[in-house]
Amino acid sequence: MILRSPDLSSLYILGVRVDRVTFGQTLALIEAFIAQGTPHQIVTVNPEFVMLAQRNAEFRQVINQSALALPDGIGVWWASRRLRCPIPERVPGVDLVVRLAQLSAAKGYRMYFLGAMPGVAARAASVLQTRFPGAVVAGHYAGSPRAEENASIVERIRAQRPDILFVAFGAPAQDLWIARNLQTLQVPVCIGVGGSFDYIAGVRPLAPQWLRKIGLEWLYRLITQPWRWRRMLVLPLFAWRVLWSRAVD
Ligand code: UDP
Repeated sequence: MILRSPDLSSLYILGVRVDRVTFGQTLALIEAFIAQGTPHQIVTVNPEFVMLAQRNAEFRQVINQSALALPDGIGVWWASRRLRCPIPERVPGVDLVVRLAQLSAAKGYRMYFLGAMPGVAARAASVLQTRFPGAVVAGHYAGSPRAEENASIVERIRAQRPDILFVAFGAPAQDLWIARNLQTLQVPVCIGVGGSFDYIAGVRPLAPQWLRKIGLEWLYRLITQPWRWRRMLVLPLFAWRVLWSRAVD
């Protein structure tokens, strides 16, 4: 199995890998992974991931050994500049799901939607099929990352032979789940996508495009999902530690 492309340039933020890829390169790599047919894990790194990985060695290892560690959050973009190893642009997970649905409509790639609250994965899949007629939904299932459900979920997915599996259990559960099951699933592209189904299904509001462009999506999230404040407490610490670190840590 090819773990990652040898020509990918990466940076390490507090010891956590982020690949310096554009959106276009990401889509090309995903197409190549599907053509290869062997399993590949993709993670979408944001500052919360970096801070979680400081105290969760397994999570850090999963990110650092993934086929592709995408630069998701604005904080990652800022850190890459601060560390003088700039990423070309952000590749947010939610935007990637939408673009892959568009690609599915063009190429027939089979997508499976796993995770989120009951009904949300199905709703996200149908919203995408309406937006991109011809997009292929191999299946959807809420499920959960609990060990007792593991084997039955893997069987369910394997039976549908998807090309792309989106897993929305939140980090780090979704990424650990994928790493644990990657070889058994035999799905060429497995991506942890966090709250993406919620946004696409309209269960949670996505920040307006202009706010996302100026990098204030986090502020919008804090206002619309105030219960996140505790999770966001790590962000000043992230900034502080990046200010005192180097690109290779
Ligand atoms: N989730 C789930 N099972 C769990 C825990 C979470 O399906 O046991 C889902 C939750 O419904 C949400 C997603 O995982 O759709 C994660 O959302 P989160 O807010 O963590 O993602 P982020 O906004 O950080 O991408």
